Amino acid sequence: MSRFLNAKYAGLTAYTPGEQPRDRQYIKLNTNESPYPPAPAVLAALGAEDVADLRLYSDPEGTVLREKLAGLYGVKPGQVFLSNGSDDILNFAFMAFGADGAVFPSLTYSFYPVFADLHQVAYETVPLKEDFSVDAAALAGRGKLTVLANPNAPTGLALPLDQVEAIVAADPSHVVVVDEAYVDFGAESAAALLDQYDNLLVVMTYSKSRSMAGARLGFALGSRAIIEDLEKLKYSTNPYNVNRLTLKLGQAAVDADGYFRDNARRIMATRAKTMQALRALGFSMPDSQANFLFLTHPKLDGAAFYQACKDRGILIRHFSDPAIAQYNRVTIGTEEEMAAFVQTAQEILKEGL
Ligand SMILES: *Cc1c(COP(=O)(O)O)cnc(C)c1O
Repeated sequence: MSRFLNAKYAGLTAYTPGEQPRDRQYIKLNTNESPYPPAPAVLAALGAEDVADLRLYSDPEGTVLREKLAGLYGVKPGQVFLSNGSDDILNFAFMAFGADGAVFPSLTYSFYPVFADLHQVAYETVPLKEDFSVDAAALAGRGKLTVLANPNAPTGLALPLDQVEAIVAADPSHVVVVDEAYVDFGAESAAALLDQYDNLLVVMTYSKSRSMAGARLGFALGSRAIIEDLEKLKYSTNPYNVNRLTLKLGQAAVDADGYFRDNARRIMATRAKTMQALRALGFSMPDSQANFLFLTHPKLDGAAFYQACKDRGILIRHFSDPAIAQYNRVTIGTEEEMAAFVQTAQEILKEGL
């Protein structure tokens, strides 16, 4: 830290992204990326002309992409907000709507407390139930900005729509953010509630199911007034927050919507098969509705299992939080990658740690 840093950031603990080591080729199951490339139409969407056009700024309103996404989700273009990855939207949400504090589950996306601290939003957390599911009743009506990842990370468990609605309905004078980074892997989207609630902000991303993590594209759906608030912050920080190339790729992906939905179904089928094989080996895990598993084994120390997998060329995600130190989060890759992971887990069990 330099002596120049504003003292209010001195104590900030930043988010730690999943490791991206370059020392060798790994089977990469640690950051919930898709194992499949985007749709062929997305691969073919850019030409030299688009690169030449980089001399021009991007459309700050993202007009074409917003129209397409609005059509896809049955809202008006003015109800769509675009951003450089959905983390950007979460950042803005804490900045914009956290004046009365924030609340989120005790075990969830570890970026939420970072955003809260960054914007000096006081937050409280609500413990999960015994089975790792979110306690919707305890989360509702706290009189604060409420942030719910649904499905939740790193558990993979989703709340049914009626419970999400109960949270949104319980406090009309505060925004409820539903972070749906993983919604396409089997959960119900709260986008269906947008007609009825003007305090709901549904946040989605191209990073997971749409196979475009590197493009950095997120979007949010909400009432026009909430979207206007986010636009105010965007135009006060970075009006051209989505670059030209990404806008174009994002449009092509909406046009090829069925393609990524097929991929999501493939990933869900691989997930079911992998869960079954791992449970047969003695692993336990919640019934994931996301593209990852959150697993533990009575005979394997969590951190040691992570390291043993890494030594054998498979990267999974271990978290330092003591409450979940015996767990690891494993992204669903291709059928072959998951077969390799199951095989490796079996070997580690046989050989011992
Ligand atoms: C991956 C993820 C995000 C954001 O990803 P972006 O790449 O910034 O769009 C947001 N929330 C959760 C819960 C995630 O897992």
